[in-house]
This record gives sequence, C-alpha cells and structure tokens, in this order.
Amino acid sequence: KKYQEGMTKTRNSFSSKINDLIARYRKVDEDFFEELEEVLITADVGVTTVMDLVEELKMEVKRQNIKDTNGIKDIISEKLVEIYYGEDQAEIEKLNIQEQGLSVILVVGVNGVGKTTSIGKLAHQLKQEGKQVILAAGDTFRAGAIEQLEVWGERAEVDVIKHNAGSDPAAVIFDAIKAAKSRQADVLICDTAGRLQNKVNLMNELSKVKRVIEREIPNAPHEVLLVLDATTGQNALSQAKTFSEVTNVSGIVLTKLDGTAKGGIVLAIRNELHIPVKFVGLGEQVGDLQQFDANAFVYGLFA
Ligand code: GDP
Repeated sequence: KKYQEGMTKTRNSFSSKINDLIARYRKVDEDFFEELEEVLITADVGVTTVMDLVEELKMEVKRQNIKDTNGIKDIISEKLVEIYYGEDQAEIEKLNIQEQGLSVILVVGVNGVGKTTSIGKLAHQLKQEGKQVILAAGDTFRAGAIEQLEVWGERAEVDVIKHNAGSDPAAVIFDAIKAAKSRQADVLICDTAGRLQNKVNLMNELSKVKRVIEREIPNAPHEVLLVLDATTGQNALSQAKTFSEVTNVSGIVLTKLDGTAKGGIVLAIRNELHIPVKFVGLGEQVGDLQQFDANAFVYGLFA
C-alpha cells in the first residue's frame, strides 16, 4: 500500500502515457514501438535497457501473434519484471544479515542523496525486527554529518559511536566494531564520507575502512549498500558506475522515489549494472523505507 502511495508520481505519469498510447494506436506496429521507447526513456528506464526491452517485446508479440494493442500491457509488465530479474530467480533480494553474530553494513554514496536518512530508517526497521543495532559515524568529513546521524540514532533509538569531526573514519569504525562486539549487537551500520570529487581519496578511505572491518570480523562487510537519489535520473546510474569501480557494491538503496515521475531508473540500474535494488525510499519519515519488490513495483506502475 505504502509502495503504491509513494510511487504516485511515477505511476500517474507512466500509466497515463501507456494508456494513451494503447488507445491511440490500436495496432501494434513500428510506430507504436517507437513511441513506447520514448515513454520508457522519459521514465528514465535508460536507453540500453529500453532497447533490450523493446526487442524482447517485439519477439513476444511475434511469437504470440498479437496484432492489436489489447493485452499488450500485460506483456509489457511481464517483460519489465523479466528485465529486472534477468535470467535469475524472481525473488526479493533480502538484506544479508547473519542469524548469529555481528553483521556489518557499510553505507556509501555522495552527499545529499539521503544516506543519513536511509541509515536512520534502516536502523529503525531492524530494531523493529528485534535486532540490536549500532551506528558508526564514519562520515567525519562533512560538517554536521555526525550530529545528523545522532538525531537519527535518537529517532530509531539506537546508539551512535562517534569521534570528533575531521578524525580518521577507520578509527571510528574500529571503535564501533569494538563497542558492537562488547554489547553483543546484531547489526552495525557504518556511515561513510560521500565526496566523489576526488576518486582516489574516496577509494583510499573506503578501502581502509573495509580493511578494518575485514580484519575484525570474518566475512564482513556483509553488505555494501550504495545510496542513490532517484530524482537525479541518469546521474544516479553514473554514480553507481563510479562506486562500483572503487568498491564492491552489494545492493542499492534508491531514495526519493516519491519525488520523481521517473522511477524507471530502478530497471536501468539492475539491467545495466547487475546490482540489485534492496530498498527504496518513499518519503522523509522514519517508516518510509521499503524492501524493493520488482513485481510490486512494475505492477504498481500500471495499477
Ligand atoms: P545525505 O547527505 O546523503 O546524508 O542526505 P540526507 O539523509 O541528509 O538527506 C537529504 C535530504 O533528502 C533530506 O532533506 C531528507 O529528508 C531527504 N530524503 C532522504 N530520503 C528521502 C526519500 O526517500 N524521500 C524524500 N522525499 N526525501 C528524502
């Protein structure tokens, strides 16, 4: 339900355009596909993904010998879901949290995308599930980042481990791991600095933080979540590419999906980068983080 409400903008824009297209064309022909491509590109699905999708659609239409646009909506939905999941299973991709022992989640992304907010929401959600959560204030670079994380810590009722602004992020993470171990916490969520201007610095900082985590806990970090802002469209895709070059991203948190009519970016990220979207942000409140479900997402577009 929340999903559908949060997606109103994308849904309204997308489904009205598709409906309009179907009403105007009646017949499935080249012109129809061309306009469909345009609608999808406008929704930020991404050119490469649109090409893949339309090719698949054309084959399916031929295979089923479909002549008019009745029923094409179902096939579009089916193919959108298929594009999302690829050859693999059609299953929600859950957060990798250990049954026993400490799980570490490293959260990366550029400033302003909603990193702190998402960490707060995620902490709240895990706490609701009965997990003991600790936050590490690893963004020691941006002014106010530590205080902001503390506000979210209070909101989610979880502890925040911090040092002073400007200190070494790896040292903060080290202390946070120590604290998490001694308090027998279940999940440690680590914030990181989000400056992309200097790729080498970013890479050095992230790998140093990762080394500390890997040294202290076997098989950690269990997740490296990249936070992306859906309203930045194709820019989000290029950020995802850059971060994939500097670290192993295991999942995406796509924020502000409520603030855009271009939710198609979800499909582009998956199809072009093969990184699953694990969560979507659908608002500014603590409860506005949803586990991503491609089926619900795609069928929500047409609801
Ligand atoms: P950070 O710099 O990446 O840590 O970004 P913040 O967490 O401070 O978020 C930046 C702004 O985006 C804040 O005003 C948040 O309230 C807002 N924001 C974050 N996530 C969402 C979301 O899912 N939907 C909406 N509408 N706003 C969001």
